Amino acid sequence: MSKVVADSSSNRAAVQATNDDASASKLSCVKKGYMKDDYIHWFVRRPVRRSPIINRGYYARWAALRKLLLQFLDCEIDASEKISTKKQILSLGAGFDTTYFQLQEEGNAPHLYVELDFKEVTSKKAALIEACGQLREKVGATAFILRDKGEVHGDHYKLLPVDLRDISKLHDVIALANLDPNHSVMPCLSECVLIYMDPDSSRSIVGWAAETFSTAIFFLYEQIHPDDAFGQQMIRNLESRGCALLGLWATPTLLAKEKLFLDQGWETAVAWDMLQIYTNFIEAQDRRRIERLELFDEFEEWHMMQEHYCVAYAINDAMGLFRDFGFPKEQHVPPAASS
Ligand code: SAH
Repeated sequence: MSKVVADSSSNRAAVQATNDDASASKLSCVKKGYMKDDYIHWFVRRPVRRSPIINRGYYARWAALRKLLLQFLDCEIDASEKISTKKQILSLGAGFDTTYFQLQEEGNAPHLYVELDFKEVTSKKAALIEACGQLREKVGATAFILRDKGEVHGDHYKLLPVDLRDISKLHDVIALANLDPNHSVMPCLSECVLIYMDPDSSRSIVGWAAETFSTAIFFLYEQIHPDDAFGQQMIRNLESRGCALLGLWATPTLLAKEKLFLDQGWETAVAWDMLQIYTNFIEAQDRRRIERLELFDEFEEWHMMQEHYCVAYAINDAMGLFRDFGFPKEQHVPPAASS
């Protein structure tokens, strides 16, 4: 039953539309000074102004992912062991995300950055990259762009179409992207992608990644706690836009998110809610800076909202690369069964 919903074209279009929403929200933050992103405006047709609480929430999610990405890129194998590993980022459901362009500009780009999404989305992104000199320059002068196929092939950047639920195709796409499973990989689902899928598909993707990558960090950002009043409202809001949170009841708590990974073969998994992340992971000086940007008085709602989103990451560490990776260990209170 849930599979039918997930596969219906209205759901597919609605889930793709969450990408336009994400891009518009990021642009709203950029315009208010929460973060710098000189690329996102190319991807937004109708700029909107979001409320302070939405801006702050978007900033928190952006800052958490950015800090973990930079930690991943900084992890090094002990030089005395004389092994080196290439860093590869695999963005699953990448939408119009601009992280690659920003990392490139900052001199932090990994050896390979691969973005996957539905063809409807990748073909639009490929067309925009082709049309805009500032983006084109970042994917490299030798990159070739197949706009109709929704593909971009640069030396260090690939954009490819695939339905993530089709696991057999994922293998082909990884090979086509030249992603080397013997080197370190960070698969990222940076915004509520699994949660729109039926639980079997989510488990398959997480399990496929655990089997395929032995030195990897899997990053996930999505909702928790469907069962209280705020959670129910969150579900109704998304359902009214055609996005049923098909996966939410299968992983409704932090513990359930960690279990999703451990059951699928990941060595370790950690999940924190966004309130804990905002307080104990995002840099205090960044918090102080962004809290001065807009008048803000929705504290009760802010707390509730942040408790309904989480970041979970799972680690496979065959090369012993990730000992220092992640949220601060001393702050980590293992989630209780209900949290
Ligand atoms: N990661 C981006 C975009 C998030 S929106 C960001 O953080 O801004 C979620 C994206 O996931 C959309 O672009 C949607 O098309 C994509 N997506 C959802 N389900 C998918 C699937 N089964 N296969 C491929 N892409 C999918």
